[in-house]
Amino acid sequence: MKKRKFKTESEKLLHLMAHSIYTQKEIFLRELISNSSDALDKRHFLALTDESIREDNYQIVISLLKEERILKISDNGIGFTEEELINNLGMIAKSGSKEFLEGLEKNDTNIIGQFGVGFYSAFMVSEKVEVVTKSIKSEKAYKWASNGVETYTIQEAEKAEIGTDIFLYLKEDLKEEENKESFSIFLEDHEIKNLVKKYSNYISYPIYLNDNLEEPLNEMTPLWKRSKKDIKEADLKEFYKQKYYDSEDPLRSIHMSIEGLLEFDALLFIPKKAPYNFYSESFEKGLELYSKGVFIQANNKDLIGDHFKFVRGLVDSSDLSLNISRELLQQDRQLKRISTTIEKRIKSELLKMLNNERELYETFYEEYKTVLKYGVYTSFGLKKELLEDLLMFKTSKEDKYLTLKEYLDKKPEEQKEIYYATGNSRAAILNLPQMEIIKAKGYDVLLFTDEVDEFMIGILNNYQDIPFKSIQTADFDVLDEKEKAELETLSEEHKDLLESLKEILKEKVSDVRLSKRLKEAPVCIVSGEGVSLEMEKVLKQVPNAGNVKADKILEINGDHKLFKVLNNLKDDQDALKSYANLLYHQALLIEGIKLENPQEYLDDVFKLMTKEL
Ligand code: ADP
Repeated sequence: MKKRKFKTESEKLLHLMAHSIYTQKEIFLRELISNSSDALDKRHFLALTDESIREDNYQIVISLLKEERILKISDNGIGFTEEELINNLGMIAKSGSKEFLEGLEKNDTNIIGQFGVGFYSAFMVSEKVEVVTKSIKSEKAYKWASNGVETYTIQEAEKAEIGTDIFLYLKEDLKEEENKESFSIFLEDHEIKNLVKKYSNYISYPIYLNDNLEEPLNEMTPLWKRSKKDIKEADLKEFYKQKYYDSEDPLRSIHMSIEGLLEFDALLFIPKKAPYNFYSESFEKGLELYSKGVFIQANNKDLIGDHFKFVRGLVDSSDLSLNISRELLQQDRQLKRISTTIEKRIKSELLKMLNNERELYETFYEEYKTVLKYGVYTSFGLKKELLEDLLMFKTSKEDKYLTLKEYLDKKPEEQKEIYYATGNSRAAILNLPQMEIIKAKGYDVLLFTDEVDEFMIGILNNYQDIPFKSIQTADFDVLDEKEKAELETLSEEHKDLLESLKEILKEKVSDVRLSKRLKEAPVCIVSGEGVSLEMEKVLKQVPNAGNVKADKILEINGDHKLFKVLNNLKDDQDALKSYANLLYHQALLIEGIKLENPQEYLDDVFKLMTKEL
C-alpha cells in the first residue's frame, strides 16, 4: 500500500471543504453523480469503436448502508487507472485555485462545479472516502482511500467489473446546540430521492437507489429530446442552473429543434454574468456536442465563434458520423452548417431582445460588448453583417445607448458621415476642443471609450454605406462655404506666422494651421491619415508594437486672443518658440496624451511664471 501526500493546494482546499459551514452540503451528491455521468459518457463514446468495452446497461447506483453509515455511489463508467487516481484525485486539475479559494471562503458552492474540484466535496460530509475502481485500460483494480487530511493511499483491490464505487463514510452528527448538523439524513431514502430530482434529474443514465433497479430516480430523457411543447421556460432555466453551476437564471434560453436537410437540437443559454475567467486564457468557449443523445465532446469550438463565446449550451445532431475521430470531427462541414444556423438564431434572439426588451438588452450589452466588438475586429469584417446591428454606443448628446441605426435615423439630412470621438471617458471626450464645433452645429457624436472601438470601426468602415468619421482628424470638415472662405483669407493674411510656427514645431507636427473647429479653446491636435491619436496611445501599451506614431497637426484658433499674442511675438523668435511649444504641449494634454519630454514643457511654464517670456 502506497501512502502519498496531496499537492499543497489540494490540501488547503480539502481543509476548507471539510471545515466550512456549508448550508448546502448536499451538493456533494450532485458532484459525484455528475462525475459518474461523465465517466459513463466517456465509456459509451469509446465503446462505439471498441466492442470489447461495450456495456448494455450504463447506470449509476446509490446504496445506503445504514448500519455502517456508508453512502455508496457506483457507476460502470470508464474507471480510473492507478495513474489517473494520483493525477485526478491527488491534486486540483485546473488553474485558478486562488480565485477558487476566495470563492469558497465566501461560501459560494457554485464555484465547486465551475472549478472542476467536485470530487473533494465528498469530504464535506465524509470522514473517510474510498474509491474502488477498475479502468477500461487496466486488468487490475485499485482502491484509493483518504480521510481528507494530508495523505491518501492507493492499493490493489478486488473488483470484477469495469467502473467505480465510491464509499462515503459519513461524519457523525453534530449535536451541540449552536452547531447542530445531521449527516444521517443522507442515509434516508426520501432525502436521496429528493436530491436526485433536485440536482440530477436530467442526467441521461438511470440513477437507481438500493436494490430497486426497476425505477430510476431521475427522468432521464434529455430535456432537448422532449417535444417542444413539453419544454417549459422554467425547465430550461433549471437545466441551465444545474448544468452550469449558476445560481442565477440565464438572461436568455433558446431551444432549437431543426428539421429538414440539416437536423439537430440545441439548447443555448446566455448567462447573466460572464464566468470569473471569461477574459483570461483559461476560459474555454464552445458547446457540448452529442450525436443521437451520445456525448461526444465537451467544448466544441467550431460550433460557436469567438464573437458569441459567451453562449453556453449543447447541440445534439443525428447527422454526424460517429466513426470519425474527434479531430476529424472538428473539421466536419456539417458542424459549420450547424454553427451558421445557430449563430443566425442567436443574432435574431438578440435583436428581438433589443427591440422588445431594451433594458434587458442593455444589461446584456454592458456585460458582453467587448466580445462583440472584438468579434468584428478580429474577423476582418467577415462578421460585419452578423454583428453590426447588435452594436450600441453612448453619444455626446445624451448618456444613453444608441444603435447605429438609431443614430442614422436621428442625424440631420445634411450630415453625410457618422461622427465619433475617442477618449478615456465620457467627460474627457465632452471636454475635447474638437467638440466645440459639434456643439455649435448641434450634431451628435458616438463616444468611443473602449480601447477596441476605433480599431473595430476601422474594420467596419461604414454602416448602411454611411462612412464613419472621427471628429479628431485633420480632414473632418463641417464648415459651410462662407466660413471656409473666411478661414482661407485669414490663413493667407497670417501665412508668415503659420510658416514660422511650422518651422519651430517641425519635429513634432507635420503641419500648423488655422482651425475649422475651435470656438473657445486656443489650440487642438488632430491626426492626419493612418493611425489616430487614440490608437497611438493604445499601441504604446502593446509590447512589440514598435513606436507607432500618429501624424499630428496643430490647429490654432484664429479668433482667440492667444493668436493675437502670437502675432505680436512675430519678431521675437525665442519667445515665439516657447509659446509654440507651450501650446503644442497643452494640446496634447487635453487629448490625454503623455508628454514625451515634460521637462521642456515645465521649463516654458516656469519662464512664463517668472515673466521671463
Ligand atoms: P472534474 O470532474 O470537474 O474534472 P473532479 O474533482 O470532480 O473534477 O474530478 C477529477 C477527475 O477525476 C475527473 O475529471 C475525472 O477524470 C475523474 N473522475 C471523477 N469521478 C470519476 C468517476 N466516477 N469515474 C471515473 N473518473 C472519475
